[in-house]
Amino acid sequence: MIGKVALVTGAGSGIGRATAILFAREGANVVVSDVNETGGKETVEHIEAAGGQATFVRADVSKSAEVQALISSTASAYGRLDYACNNAGIGGAQKFTADYMEADWNQLIGINLTGVWLCMKYEIPQMLKVGGGVIVNMSSILGWVGFAGAPAYVAAKHGVVGLTKTAALEYSAQNIRITAVCPAFIQTPMVEKAIADPAVLQMLVGMHPIKRMGKPEEVAELVVWLCSNKASFITGNAVLVDGGYVAQ
Ligand code: NAP
Repeated sequence: MIGKVALVTGAGSGIGRATAILFAREGANVVVSDVNETGGKETVEHIEAAGGQATFVRADVSKSAEVQALISSTASAYGRLDYACNNAGIGGAQKFTADYMEADWNQLIGINLTGVWLCMKYEIPQMLKVGGGVIVNMSSILGWVGFAGAPAYVAAKHGVVGLTKTAALEYSAQNIRITAVCPAFIQTPMVEKAIADPAVLQMLVGMHPIKRMGKPEEVAELVVWLCSNKASFITGNAVLVDGGYVAQ
């Protein structure tokens, strides 16, 4: 990936940070983007300390003007965009469908679904200018199956899968491969914040046939592999990295 440019949103923490670090280790110039400046800058420090190359650009993926500015600044800094991992997301409120607040619904859909669409809206024209690229959108096992108490999250992650398939149909002939990655529960600050009760955490661990949660690095490996030429015939699908969760 030497000489290539990779953009990762939500790269200030968890899966996004691990993905940005791995892209850099593979030789890419990485644009680390996040709404959280402290986290994003820490990721850049990790990459630079390991001898890699990265720049931080703050952007809220739910805001069109900020996403547009993110892609423009990537293009003006590097002149190209080869790989994009549209990863930024939130866990959102934990309430059943009828109790979910409209403001919480709109916020979650705005970040986890509209945010992915806005990123692709501005990434695709930039990739077309350099003859192609690869986009990996962050979905979830909850883009495959339901989960009681997470209606907006499940709807957004299923939406990401549908959007990914459609965009892949539209742009694969122009050399842009687009896939979704679907992790099960991964040990990140998002999960740590959402599940404070150790008994609930143990119950969730038990739902994975592999009997543990995943690590951010295990998701990063899949994202970076999907972007590589080793995955050159893969587009338009939702790839699980789930310790067997959805097989049951
Ligand atoms: P995380 O550790 O909370 O990291 C997410 C990062 O995204 C944080 O730095 C967060 O900033 C940032 N962010 C939040 N809203 C944003 C916005 N509007 N614009 C830009 N950045 C924003 O979460 P994670 O577990 O790594 O999750 C990353 C992605 O993987 C999400 O899309 C999530 O849905 C998906 N996923 C996670 C799991 C899991 O079990 N962890 C499983 C399947 C899928 P703040 O810290 O300031 O909020």
